[in-house]
Amino acid sequence: MPTIVFASQNPGKIRELQALTQGQNIDIIGLGDLDRDFDEPVEDGRTFLENATIKAVQYAKETGLHCLADDSGLIVDALDGKPGVISSHFAFDGDTEGEAAGLSRQERDDRNNERLLRDLEGIPDDRRTARFTCTMVLASPDGEVLAHTKGEFEGRIGQIGEVPRGDNGFGYDPLFLVAPRFDRTSAQMTPDEKNTVSHRAKAVAAMIDKLGSVFTDS
Ligand code: IMP
Repeated sequence: MPTIVFASQNPGKIRELQALTQGQNIDIIGLGDLDRDFDEPVEDGRTFLENATIKAVQYAKETGLHCLADDSGLIVDALDGKPGVISSHFAFDGDTEGEAAGLSRQERDDRNNERLLRDLEGIPDDRRTARFTCTMVLASPDGEVLAHTKGEFEGRIGQIGEVPRGDNGFGYDPLFLVAPRFDRTSAQMTPDEKNTVSHRAKAVAAMIDKLGSVFTDS
């Protein structure tokens, strides 16, 4: 049975992928299961695909195993696609050191959300369309990219006063009104519900479809 290491330290994401690949004759493990330290890759790509590729290739070579990596973020049409690849550090214009380095993830999320609402102030509902996007890349132990997939999750960013709403999820979820009804945020969905429609769920499902042929062809 092939073993794939998922380039994530997030136990929730790893469990989700293990559940989704059950019965596929593939063993998914996390970096933490390998009991050693790894050099963290520098995610300096200009696209989600570039960043996911940087992670998948580096960890595949370091572990000597097939490696899956993902990269995700929020795209807002009225901001020409921002926050995009700097979604996790939008409030700091993508700077991961300096002030941002001293903050917790929650504090960073709060600052990002404030910045997003400020940048969209005065923009009407019909021009606040946005989507979460997730790209997944599978690399072979020698660092060759074997497959990549993408998933998207459509919505729009609520107005100040209308959002933030909801206690589930993370990041921009409390601001993201889910299409097509726009009557609740993704932070108001249960985790199970979000996991069936989210950008990550779609990218994972598409990758699982490809895994069968990757491993029977090799
Ligand atoms: P990463 O792929 O874990 O690096 O996530 C990048 C950033 O995109 C996160 O820090 C969040 O700001 C944002 N993001 C990605 N997916 C979601 C989501 O499902 N909900 C809310 N924010 C998200």
